[in-house]
Amino acid sequence: MKKAELHVHLEGSIEAETLLAIDPSLTRDEIAANLTCASFPQFLQGYIWVTRKLEKPEHYALATRHLLDSLAGQGVTYAEITLSAGVVLWKQQDLGAVYDAVWRESQRSSIRTFWILDAIRQFGPEKGMDVAEFAVSRRDEGVIAYGIGGDEVRGPAHWFRDVFAYARSQGLRLVCHAGETAGPESVWSALAIGAERIGHGIAAAKDPVLMVQLRQDNVPLEVCISSNVCTGAVASLEDHPVRALYDAGVPITIHTDDPAFFRTTLAREYELAESLFGLPSGELAANSFRYAFRALP
Ligand SMILES: [Zn+2]
Repeated sequence: MKKAELHVHLEGSIEAETLLAIDPSLTRDEIAANLTCASFPQFLQGYIWVTRKLEKPEHYALATRHLLDSLAGQGVTYAEITLSAGVVLWKQQDLGAVYDAVWRESQRSSIRTFWILDAIRQFGPEKGMDVAEFAVSRRDEGVIAYGIGGDEVRGPAHWFRDVFAYARSQGLRLVCHAGETAGPESVWSALAIGAERIGHGIAAAKDPVLMVQLRQDNVPLEVCISSNVCTGAVASLEDHPVRALYDAGVPITIHTDDPAFFRTTLAREYELAESLFGLPSGELAANSFRYAFRALP
């Protein structure tokens, strides 16, 4: 079945083989100890460890090739990949060189690929604007959207009102991680600054008024089931609210987030959604194209 992947972080997709190709001095034990997730803090630690291994633009390009090869094998024909541009700047790397490398690589794939450049909420709006300005500069070279992720509580969405308005005025689409580790109010804040899709947003299940709003505004939640269980955002698979959200008419798409950390694939997430929650794969796949930021030609 053809589908689109709209919520996957390049840095969270890097499997052990790719890390070994980048740095042959690594051991498998060392990789396994870092490429794991039993809690949100542990996941963040591992994510930073992987990101530090990406020292050169070529490393980012190799990760892109491996991710797109994997997605092609799962029936993905369209992808919007998130690059943690805020982290590239934080590492004081040349974001232009890194982005150009991943964009060039993604153009070689059979998958039609666009990029979402993501800023870190808790780094603040000024750093967020640095990412937005760069994203705008590459709007004609594959950047389709601007996003924010990271700590919802320490970096509230309202800080980014002007940054979102700027990105929007320059033709970029807007996504916001929200309602993953914080409550429904975080999703409300994301809507208030103009988010067109919500990364996770599962806390909306606690707020019937918010679910009606999402349905009326036709704003989808990018649901990543395994991710939410691994990071502890939900207590167990059975406790995941995706079915309640679906039954309330909230638009749902299904994604992997950070497949290398959560030991999953997009195919596996669709399987979970269908077998455990009875969500029809055909409808989810149709949604993945419906809520993509660029319509298929
Ligand atoms: Zn994410």
